[in-house]
Amino acid sequence: MATGYVYHRTFLEHDLRGHPENKERLNAIISVLDQHKVRDRLVPITPVPISQPRLENVHDARYVEQVQRLATRGGGNLDMDTYVSPGSFDAARMAAGGLVEATRAVLDGETQNAFALVRPPGHHALRHRGMGFCLFNNVAIAARYALSERRLDRVAIIDFDVHHGNGTQEEFESDPEVLYVSTHQYPYYPGTGNWDETGLAAGTRHIVNVPLAGAVGDNGFVRIMNEIVIPVTRRFKPQLVLVSAGYDAHWDDPLASMRLSVTGYAGIARVLKELAEEVCEGRLVFTLEGGYHLQALAYSVLNTFGVLLGDPGSAVVDPLGPSPRREREVDDIVSQVRKVHAL
Ligand SMILES: [Zn+2]
Repeated sequence: MATGYVYHRTFLEHDLRGHPENKERLNAIISVLDQHKVRDRLVPITPVPISQPRLENVHDARYVEQVQRLATRGGGNLDMDTYVSPGSFDAARMAAGGLVEATRAVLDGETQNAFALVRPPGHHALRHRGMGFCLFNNVAIAARYALSERRLDRVAIIDFDVHHGNGTQEEFESDPEVLYVSTHQYPYYPGTGNWDETGLAAGTRHIVNVPLAGAVGDNGFVRIMNEIVIPVTRRFKPQLVLVSAGYDAHWDDPLASMRLSVTGYAGIARVLKELAEEVCEGRLVFTLEGGYHLQALAYSVLNTFGVLLGDPGSAVVDPLGPSPRREREVDDIVSQVRKVHAL
């Protein structure tokens, strides 16, 4: 069955020259996808701006107004890292709406899986405040849509961005209907995501944090997938898997110091595809979060599409190669997380 993708030129309207999260990220992705004629093999899913009620399921109306007002007045900053440009409100509404459309297409069986190539990213955005380059929490909005409008009972969100998705965690930390699993550098921006943050009240053990000291590469991630992500997701039995796909754990990314390669990212995508096939008939929706080395980002996304389309492992294209530096062992953190989650 088919693989869908979301893209729209409105996503380029959120932009600030010189900022790492700028429109060239998507331009690089589209250019590499087209060089490899990948979009010809995909089903385009047309994004629509998110409706106000869907947006306000996750964000305070006053915060939404603040973003709109800032954009209308020509732009400004929400905090030191997070800008609003004149086109940002429209881009952010289209990004959230695009991911909801991708989720709808997969739940309706129009495509087997999908990847929403959206900007701005979302996983740091809190109910009342944007932060960390994020305006609206796209993945949280899509999960709420699946739960409340599509009547799903269990949605898993797997977040392999190098930063902790504090906004997503906060949205669902008391919620037993959502499993949130995050691998991230720690301690690091935004400061949350230690292994002992496991959820609150009815959501206890539904937040699974894998804090990493950095320098973890492809082999470490294989172990984390096999020994934590797969068993905890199997146990939860999600009906849909959403993925906060950040490519800033690449070894050459300027913002962090993890040691994943493009090939390692393709391996993670393969694990997640097989996992979704096992637990929820393959219903898998990726959404773009971070990734600031343009070539690493573009080729990681290219190979992720290859995996979603079912291309063989031998088809991986990795012009940057493996990390030139030694990888850190993950034994201690893997056993700690397994223990706290009774895996
Ligand atoms: Zn990130």
